Amino acid sequence: MDIFKEIRPLKAFLESSKRDSDSIGFVPTMGALHQGHLSLIQASKRENAKTICSIYINPTQFNNPDDLAKYPKTLARDIELLTDVGCDVLFCPENKEMYSVEPRLKFDFGSLERVLEGKYRPGHFSGVALVISKLFHIVSPNKAYFGQKDFQQFKIIEQLVEELKFDVSLRCMPIERESDGLAMSSRNTRLSAEQKEKATTLYKCLLLASNLIKDGHTMDSIRKKIESIFLKVDGIKLEYFELANTTNLMSLKYVADKSSTAILLIAGYVGEVRLIDNLLLTDEN
Ligand code: AMP
Repeated sequence: MDIFKEIRPLKAFLESSKRDSDSIGFVPTMGALHQGHLSLIQASKRENAKTICSIYINPTQFNNPDDLAKYPKTLARDIELLTDVGCDVLFCPENKEMYSVEPRLKFDFGSLERVLEGKYRPGHFSGVALVISKLFHIVSPNKAYFGQKDFQQFKIIEQLVEELKFDVSLRCMPIERESDGLAMSSRNTRLSAEQKEKATTLYKCLLLASNLIKDGHTMDSIRKKIESIFLKVDGIKLEYFELANTTNLMSLKYVADKSSTAILLIAGYVGEVRLIDNLLLTDEN
């Protein structure tokens, strides 16, 4: 695997692939890699001649300085995992390379970012859009791979690509889970074994809510039930639990009919670690 820390040599390297008209698949990450990230690399490898992964903990998307300071860093292990899975290129820049000037640009995604994560993490999506714009300019990928785990982030990036006319196709890949249902996340490494067990409450609540919706319950009654479940488990706290329209993320009270797609989204704290998860409501769930 070729590893680059600087933009200029990376671009020169990628230029030669583009001359050979090799398609480039891109997987942006913040490292501390797990099977969720690797599934994106594998998807990219299936569909492109070259796959490039970036590992960069982007400071402008962290609204909580403690979360940034404690974000796990495992670069040596990440390099091993990427090599084993057959990633071709890794871009792992330092802050001074990505933010050589004080960032001034701000993005406003309107109603898409006033709900869910955006409501609780002010400025988060502006920081995401800024770093993804930089990375897309640097890498110019043909396809870019993201996880459904960060569903709202995917919607924001779709809007960004549409508005700025980035010539890239976006892929949204399924959530990889542990065998007990816990959605894989770099932040899980900050949890004790006991906390990990408690963290499965998020997914269990999504499944329960999906069944209750099928039985005709409304979101108001389901939310009350979910809140009471969280109150019964020590050391966990619910932040939001929503049913939303997958197109515009507007909150729904119930699923109107099979033709409109809906998604359940949850965020909560286990100890001081903030976790998110979601479940698309399809015929299977
Ligand atoms: P992150 O390193 O957390 O910024 O994540 C990098 C990419 O991996 C994002 O597109 C995430 O949505 C995706 N991702 C994170 N966790 C998972 C997971 N459990 N399954 C699938 N994709 C994931």
